[in-house]
Amino acid sequence: MKKVVVIGGGLSGLSAARAVKDAAAERGIGVELTLLEKDDVPGGKIRSLREDGYLCETGPNGFLDNKPSTMALTRRMGIENLLYKSDDNARKRFIFTNGKLEKLPEDPLSFIMSEVLSIRGKLRLAADFFLPQGEPGKDETVAEFVRRRIGEEALDKLIDPMSAGIYAGDPSVMSVIACFPKVKMIEDQFGGLLKGMLAMQKMAKAQGRQGPQSAGPGGTLWSYGEGAGVLPTLLAKELGEGVKTGVEARALERNGSGWLVATEGGEYEADEVVLATPAYAASKLLAPHSEEASRLMSNIPYVKMAVVCLGYDKGSVPHPLDGFGFLIPKKEGRKILGSLWSSSIFPNRAPEGKALFTLMMGGARSPELATLPEEELLAACRDEMAVTLGATKEPEFVKIVRWDKAIPQYLVGHLDRVKVIEREISALGGVTLGGNAYYGIGINDCTMRAELIGQMVAEKLAKTGGA
Ligand SMILES: Cc1cc2nc3c(=O)[nH]c(=O)nc-3n(C[C@H](O)[C@H](O)[C@H](O)COP(=O)(O)OP(=O)(O)OC[C@H]3O[C@@H](n4cnc5c(N)ncnc54)[C@H](O)[C@@H]3O)c2cc1C
Repeated sequence: MKKVVVIGGGLSGLSAARAVKDAAAERGIGVELTLLEKDDVPGGKIRSLREDGYLCETGPNGFLDNKPSTMALTRRMGIENLLYKSDDNARKRFIFTNGKLEKLPEDPLSFIMSEVLSIRGKLRLAADFFLPQGEPGKDETVAEFVRRRIGEEALDKLIDPMSAGIYAGDPSVMSVIACFPKVKMIEDQFGGLLKGMLAMQKMAKAQGRQGPQSAGPGGTLWSYGEGAGVLPTLLAKELGEGVKTGVEARALERNGSGWLVATEGGEYEADEVVLATPAYAASKLLAPHSEEASRLMSNIPYVKMAVVCLGYDKGSVPHPLDGFGFLIPKKEGRKILGSLWSSSIFPNRAPEGKALFTLMMGGARSPELATLPEEELLAACRDEMAVTLGATKEPEFVKIVRWDKAIPQYLVGHLDRVKVIEREISALGGVTLGGNAYYGIGINDCTMRAELIGQMVAEKLAKTGGA
């Protein structure tokens, strides 16, 4: 029996643990799997809290089906019956610009027709068609890339809020290759963004596929009846007694050809260790074994965030709330990054006749707001609800969740540094890297990486004579 210890019980660790078990079983390798989670409940950033009939998500509201891994995991777990598809209206996304909400066009090419950009901004965006291609494969900041291709106004009004919405990040330091790989790939492959999107639309048409081809994420949003937290909760349940909550990995020590994971309550032997904690925690564990990997990991910054769930009587909000919600460009000078209209996206998120909003505050744009005292934080949120949606009444439900280290930031050169980290870790033997700090922060990225981890660990176990 081979021993595998997964450190970190967020979605990355839980899905990696399941993938290791599956991949080992396929190869006929017996595995004793232990997952150590520091908190008392598994799930990490993903938790769905039902209170007073409202369902408040502490992190993600769902996952897109534009990448298959989370949907495939859901099927393998046999929990498709728990899936909720988002309302068709959730395709409608808004942007708060020039003091009002504007609907974002669903097809990026029709930005040309939309009200979001000025005529000058549209002309600059259209100039992308004629501009020379940048150096293929060269990383630069998201802001540099966007300015170069589609101009300053598109950066301010479209990409800055999108960067805040996905990464709570600052496009002037984010890596375009690590954060928006598809966008950079379109330039590298087709010479420009508009050329690429037109070519992709043509290809889709020729293949009889429907729908616009976008440089953005695309796809349909899904969750589960009782929220995104269902996935980690049921993964942990499946893994059973192997999941040890309230157990922090304090140190990683050599043990012959394997490892010992030290915790306050004792040690766990491992032939293979999967590190699925945030980078700063993995950095501490690796410090005695690779100074370089540890240093690079500890340098991956994280942003603070406050997630504020507000419940209102529907009648007290003048907006029809027929969409996903909105994001706000930095230039608007507002206090929130944006707001999800949670009860418009999925049913069952608020009691009958009520509406649930999820407001995001902080991030790289305004970290100080994420740590405001509760009174001030709520006052700011009430202001924002009044200005953006005309909701001037008091919310009747409030839930605040704060993350001191919410989302890792992929800065320019991120993927080169990850290569060095991987090289160092691979030289140690018996350690595999997981978690959202390296190859993508989305739920799909975590579950996709988990599948790969399953294969990598099973292969290593097979090589060392697993049976
Ligand atoms: C507010 C917010 C909104 C988001 N929205 C979306 C969204 O809409 N769509 C989307 O796809 N993604 C979204 N994300 C991103 C996504 O939720 C995360 O990337 C993903 O959940 C990260 O999972 P993880 O397991 O890698 O990390 P985490 O969830 O951070 O889990 C790491 C775990 O490791 C544990 N740990 C740390 N140190 C130790 C130790 N020494 N020993 C044992 N355990 C340890 C921690 O307690 C934690 O449980 C959002 C994230 C946030 C914060």
